[in-house]
Amino acid sequence: MTTALIYSEKYLEHKPSEWHPERPERLRAIVDALRRANLWSLPSVQVIEPTPASRADIELVHDREYIALIERLSGLCKPLDSDTPVDANTFELALLAAGGAIKAGEVVAARDATNAFALVRPPGHHASRGHGGGFCYFNNLAIMIEHLRRRHGVKRVFVLDFDAHHGNGTQEIFYEDPSVLFMSIHQDGRTLYPGTGFVHEIGSGEGEGHTVNVPLRPGSADAEYASVMQELFLPLSEAFKPELIAVSAGMDAHADDPLTQLGLSTSAYGWLTRYVVKQAGKLCGGRVVLVLEGGYAVDAVAGAAVNIVRVLTGWSPPLPTEQKRPEVVDDIRRALADCWRL
Ligand SMILES: [Zn+2]
Repeated sequence: MTTALIYSEKYLEHKPSEWHPERPERLRAIVDALRRANLWSLPSVQVIEPTPASRADIELVHDREYIALIERLSGLCKPLDSDTPVDANTFELALLAAGGAIKAGEVVAARDATNAFALVRPPGHHASRGHGGGFCYFNNLAIMIEHLRRRHGVKRVFVLDFDAHHGNGTQEIFYEDPSVLFMSIHQDGRTLYPGTGFVHEIGSGEGEGHTVNVPLRPGSADAEYASVMQELFLPLSEAFKPELIAVSAGMDAHADDPLTQLGLSTSAYGWLTRYVVKQAGKLCGGRVVLVLEGGYAVDAVAGAAVNIVRVLTGWSPPLPTEQKRPEVVDDIRRALADCWRL
């Protein structure tokens, strides 16, 4: 089993502003922690410098007018919205973040690595075809998936988004698409940005049943996540039979996160990843690509990333013994009853 870590020092040059939670220290702490844990230099790990995504790749997902808008705002240093500032280098760095996700997907599709983690900034899962926001400009993970489908013949991708915020951009991009199953576990949209991601949002047209939202009450923690992985992630991924599992890996569901009210432990990131890696081993030759999203408690994010990479490189932490089924699991089963036998 080999692992690719995709990283560029340039990702630290994205500096939204002094007060902004999506700050370079997040990623610097991850890389420092991986180095201290000797994961950066493991023989089974290759660290790869990404190249920027091409305009053609970005256009696989985003409208031309929207791409032009980001480029223009970058020239003017004018924000996209009050949460999402734009500097002179934002356009260029957003291309490099998408390029990092593409590189992670490519090495796994080409079997140069079993799995990969794109350690990128700015994040992407709130960016839809024609809108950005929530610290996101281009949807790195969606661009990676479209690139793999068009250029590497990957047909079916299961997306697990465990960032605490609903991955509304990714959901919208693939809402009518039956070749991507999007499953998001997040804090209930009535209590957190972006206010979407409810059980009844299950996809439409041919994509019906291929969007699965698991909104959790504030305070939900390891036992609830363990139940969701066991009772929804395992049977859904088995039924869908992906060729690749892609993960929107945000670490802001951690108990220490200043922006959210969920309660995951640092060790949870290890066993969450183990569920994914194990299932990928069973279903798709171990092929897993993680793309970094949010996570704002710097020390927690670093510890979570170490546990994730430990599992990618072969560590099998124990699965949690305690499970607590959130009520929403039954609602989801009912909402999907016509589509999947769960
Ligand atoms: Zn988030």
